[in-house]
Amino acid sequence: MTVRATWQGGGEGWSILVHGGAGFIPPERREAHAEGCRLAARAGALVLAAGGSALDAAQAAVELLEDDPRYNAGTGGSLDEHGELRLDASLMDGATLAAGAVCALPPFFHPIAVARAALRDGRHVLYAAEGAARFARLAGFEPAPPDRMITDAARARLEATRQGQDGNWAGGTVGAVARDLAGHVAAATSTGGTVGKRHGRVGDSPILGAGTYADDLAGAASGTGEGEGYLRLAACLRACLALQQGREPLDAAVETIRMLRERVNASGGIILVAPDGRLALARSTEAMSWGACWGSLDQLTGGC
Ligand code: ASP
Repeated sequence: MTVRATWQGGGEGWSILVHGGAGFIPPERREAHAEGCRLAARAGALVLAAGGSALDAAQAAVELLEDDPRYNAGTGGSLDEHGELRLDASLMDGATLAAGAVCALPPFFHPIAVARAALRDGRHVLYAAEGAARFARLAGFEPAPPDRMITDAARARLEATRQGQDGNWAGGTVGAVARDLAGHVAAATSTGGTVGKRHGRVGDSPILGAGTYADDLAGAASGTGEGEGYLRLAACLRACLALQQGREPLDAAVETIRMLRERVNASGGIILVAPDGRLALARSTEAMSWGACWGSLDQLTGGC
């Protein structure tokens, strides 16, 4: 079975769909993971309901999850082979195709906010490693003390991976797609990457087209899963192009997840928003937490 679960919702007006990563989440922790995603969707929904932009909403949702140590992004992110936190994040504005991204960023509390600063600055799209840290400092962000962002759970996951008890990827990457009242879409994704990754490894999350993509003419997507597969397939771009060609959002999500399995043997999940605000999710992993809201703050839902 290549696709294990799907969900669709949304509609006319504003909408937001958030994910908290595809992977294995023990059954007893799934409701807590879903609850974090509902709260993040609510944070984005507050922005959208007040007439804010899809880009601001997606960023607000992702920042909340970066602060939550249960997810593999920002605080609590996965550690590399040296036990270091190196963070990847990107976001894209479907209205203008403006984008910002950072990869292998040393500890800063909100990598997605640094990516947003890169988008705003506009000179370059993607900053890496020490150069990304330098850009962040120039943009006014304070580096975080590593011990405030590295959690015991992340250390334990690295140890388990070193001892061969765990797969080589984490789950818990976070992302959001949104459509605002003006009809614009945006996507944002943030991660610590795979557990025990080689120092310098960069995944799909900060790469436009692979882990994140947004275009008002097509829709917006954020992926989570085995990043090397998403990179090789340009998975989020493919999903958006399928939307642009008139595929139903759910079909576009399912076909992308199926293609990841069949063409590059990768598992994971994807969330999409179509230009009209319809939302869809598909995953091939055992679990993937998500939260969504559209049209009214009462319309808040989620799962795992
Ligand atoms: N896609 C992320 C990466 O490969 C990992 C994940 O989604 O859990 O860096």
